Amino acid sequence: MRTLTQLADGLRRRSFSSVELVGALLARIEKSQPALNAFISVAAAEALEAARAADRTLAAGGGGPLTGVPIAHKDIFCTAGMRTTCGSRMLDNFVSPYDATVVARLKRAGALLLAKTNMDEFAMGSSNENSFYGPVRNPWNPQMVPGGSSGGSAAAVAARLVPGATGTDTGGSIRQPAALCGITGMKPTYGRVSRYGMIAFASSLDQGGTLTASAADAALMLREMAGFDPRDSTSVDAPVPDYVAAIEEPITGLRIGLLAEFFDKGLDAENERCVREALRVLEGLGARVSQVSLPNLPMSVPVYYVVAPAEASSNLARYDGVRFGHRCENPRDLTDMYRRSRGEGFGAEVKRRIMTGTYVLSAGYYDAYYLKAQRVRALINADFVRAFQSVDVLIGPTTPTPAFPIGAKTADPITMYLNDIYTIGANLAGLPAISVPCGFAAGLPVGLQIVGPHFSEARVLAAAHAFQRTTDWHTRVPVGYA
Ligand code: GLN
Repeated sequence: MRTLTQLADGLRRRSFSSVELVGALLARIEKSQPALNAFISVAAAEALEAARAADRTLAAGGGGPLTGVPIAHKDIFCTAGMRTTCGSRMLDNFVSPYDATVVARLKRAGALLLAKTNMDEFAMGSSNENSFYGPVRNPWNPQMVPGGSSGGSAAAVAARLVPGATGTDTGGSIRQPAALCGITGMKPTYGRVSRYGMIAFASSLDQGGTLTASAADAALMLREMAGFDPRDSTSVDAPVPDYVAAIEEPITGLRIGLLAEFFDKGLDAENERCVREALRVLEGLGARVSQVSLPNLPMSVPVYYVVAPAEASSNLARYDGVRFGHRCENPRDLTDMYRRSRGEGFGAEVKRRIMTGTYVLSAGYYDAYYLKAQRVRALINADFVRAFQSVDVLIGPTTPTPAFPIGAKTADPITMYLNDIYTIGANLAGLPAISVPCGFAAGLPVGLQIVGPHFSEARVLAAAHAFQRTTDWHTRVPVGYA
């Protein structure tokens, strides 16, 4: 199977048709589903129909950069006429009347929607075990989690069921599953990609991005997704660079800061070995590595688990059984309807977040928890700003360990939360960050994380691309999915 970039080129040169491509991928998806459970919905008939139209456009010499290329969307992005569940029983029957901006832009670029990917309920999780539709399995080893919350998108791209998929990253949900599944996951700067039609979890942290086989593919997808959207008040009105052209920029002289706080006692020895080896590769390409310390960064997990649940408790108040989503049978009165609709519609982790969030926002606790967390968030942000005065990018591992067994961390939420210890900082500060495969630990993929200053996506992608031009970790495909 070829990369997104190669498929787009092949379609343009008419080496194969979009109908052939869609047909082949649909067969792979169907075959993989019992083993991986990467998808919640598949739009077979609609995708074939769109592929026929794309082939006609291409035959007439027309088309955009992605014409006829099939992709998948995380089931958190609203798709007109096709259900959007967000991995929740609450939205099991929800069909959006409109497309998310990300969906509309990729469609405009010519991409076809093949399927919607499985995910942790409302994007809350790090293992995809919180989905109402059942866990996703890691294609490298089906006993292992794929990571989360964009675990379906990561597994689908790793198993080459789709050449690219969207994801969302609130605390690591693109980068962490990308690392655990051995693919490339890109979270842009907060405000770079529109959140319109992307179901809200924690609005000050949520950002849409890409899961692909390579940084070059990420550049291609992101170029089409990114940009100002008047329908998202936090979307930033700044021109989108041509990321595809920019990735060829050499990294000679690139100043890399090695994130001291990320090489702590929690880091698996094999993961550390892979990341240090990757740094040597980057040094070989002309980058200069120095050690950088961000003293407040170790506070990022506790800060996140105050801020994110606070925002979630507010965002999820809209699911009350009145306007959309699950409504309980025969409610006695309004309160009964609220209580039972929400009680039945939400899973355990979502309820835990709503309760935590409501608690930290309540009178008497607001100052002690929420306001305090916001202050520490400002300190973390300032640490990053300071670091970027002396380095161009920060580098470290994406996760402390490779993929863990399904069921291993479900009994203890805190252990699960600590999986995101290296990714959450970029969300709190709104920074762009990418995870690229950099080796294997006991047969499971390891991710290298590159974080840049605000709106430095082009440079982050160029660093990742330079690494991928000299290494072949990103080309490895799990056994049985070649
Ligand atoms: N794992 C983190 C959480 O459970 C981050 C999720 C995300 O980025 N959507 O909240």
